[in-house]
Amino acid sequence: MRYSGLNVLWQGLTGNRGWTPAWRDPDPKPEYDIVIIGGGGHGLSTAHYLATEYGLTNVAVLEKGYLGGGNVGRNTTIVRANYFLDGNSQFYSHSLKLWEGLESSLNYNVMHSQRGLINLFHSDGQRDAFARRGNMMISQGDDAILLDRAGVRKMLPYLDFEQTRFPIYGGLYHPRGGTARHDAVAWGYARGADSRGVDLIQNCEVTGIDIENGVVKGVQTTRGAIRAKKVGIVVAGRSGQVAAMAGMRLPIESHVLQAFVTEGLKPVIDHVISYGMGHFYISQSDKGGLVFGGDIDFYASYAARGNLTMAEHVAEAGMTLMPMIGKAKTLRSWGGIMDMSPDGSPIIDRTHIEGLYLNCGWCYGGFKAVPASGHCFAHLLATDRPHEAAEKFRLDRFQTGRGLLDEEGTGAQHNLH
Ligand SMILES: Cc1cc2nc3c(=O)[nH]c(=O)nc-3n(C[C@H](O)[C@H](O)[C@H](O)COP(=O)(O)OP(=O)(O)OC[C@H]3O[C@@H](n4cnc5c(N)ncnc54)[C@H](O)[C@@H]3O)c2cc1C
Repeated sequence: MRYSGLNVLWQGLTGNRGWTPAWRDPDPKPEYDIVIIGGGGHGLSTAHYLATEYGLTNVAVLEKGYLGGGNVGRNTTIVRANYFLDGNSQFYSHSLKLWEGLESSLNYNVMHSQRGLINLFHSDGQRDAFARRGNMMISQGDDAILLDRAGVRKMLPYLDFEQTRFPIYGGLYHPRGGTARHDAVAWGYARGADSRGVDLIQNCEVTGIDIENGVVKGVQTTRGAIRAKKVGIVVAGRSGQVAAMAGMRLPIESHVLQAFVTEGLKPVIDHVISYGMGHFYISQSDKGGLVFGGDIDFYASYAARGNLTMAEHVAEAGMTLMPMIGKAKTLRSWGGIMDMSPDGSPIIDRTHIEGLYLNCGWCYGGFKAVPASGHCFAHLLATDRPHEAAEKFRLDRFQTGRGLLDEEGTGAQHNLH
């Protein structure tokens, strides 16, 4: 069923009785050409692009819970392409271009809103670093505008410009940055893949990976064994555990990242603001809630829940930047499990096991990567060659030290990610 304004009108006039389910609920078949483990944003977009770009539809996505119940439905929805160094910069640039055509290509409203992202800076040294970053963004075809203090004050008059601890010197403005509705992205890709014949199988946990003589043969699941010629591991925070089923030890640590949302308010914040010194960022959802968060918890954990220590830290940082948010009531907080790589950059690669492929290491920034990650991973699965936008995301860089990607352009320090 195609979605359109006319269709909404027609359904509204006829009692909304004509809508069909957005995807099927099939039982697993005994064998597929490709099995994707993980029905998050990256797994679903991979399946979609396998079908649309390569005509590969004998594909299953196996999800242990429900589609979109992982990080894709837990993030703070920021979409941006503001990277400094080669490797990440072209990949995220590719992703932002895919975002810009996503709603029409999926025929699905993912509420992509290019409301602009502003990274604040607080010293001359930081201004230099952001000016360099902005120049790199412009030179690769993305957009960046360096704002001085007055420029930031004009756009964000509600910030506290009198605070002395981290005085605001200016900001790097990325107009094409913004937000999208996170679970709609999962639903849109799911619907796109399903409508082309991909089986999306929920409540199906992969419990083992079958390998014979160094070649993958399929997977064991809570719904029985499924044979497959190729298997892609796309399970974000669970990457270490699932790769261990194939005897692999990944350079990934899982950490909790938390987020918070307030009660709905009238429109007050119309950009995404990032306040690195205080470890705080914020935007306002279309429903009116202020959506904000801070750092990851610094200890490794598989517990997808929050704690008071981080709530205090984030609230403190937010109050320093914009004391007005003290008046809003926090409604909810939650956590998601991040697959942190040592250089803060992802892995999209083959493994030493024939037919077994890996997509992980998205850290706290994998939502904006969803379109390009699926696009590039589908390319790898279909052709056995890395896509040019993702050719630096090799697994062996952590073994050889060559090609480490340094996400922030400030030196690879795991505790900064
Ligand atoms: C609080 C928070 C804020 C964030 N903010 C942003 C942001 O603003 N911008 C941004 O770009 N990124 C952000 N991120 C990061 C982003 O959400 C993740 O990097 C990204 O969603 C991870 O990829 P995914 O969507 O495929 O993961 P997931 O949605 O977690 O998908 C993985 C899926 O694999 C399934 N799975 C695991 N093990 C198995 C198994 N054995 N068998 C079958 N299925 C299995 C899981 O159930 C899960 O559904 C944030 C994350 C959090 C938690």
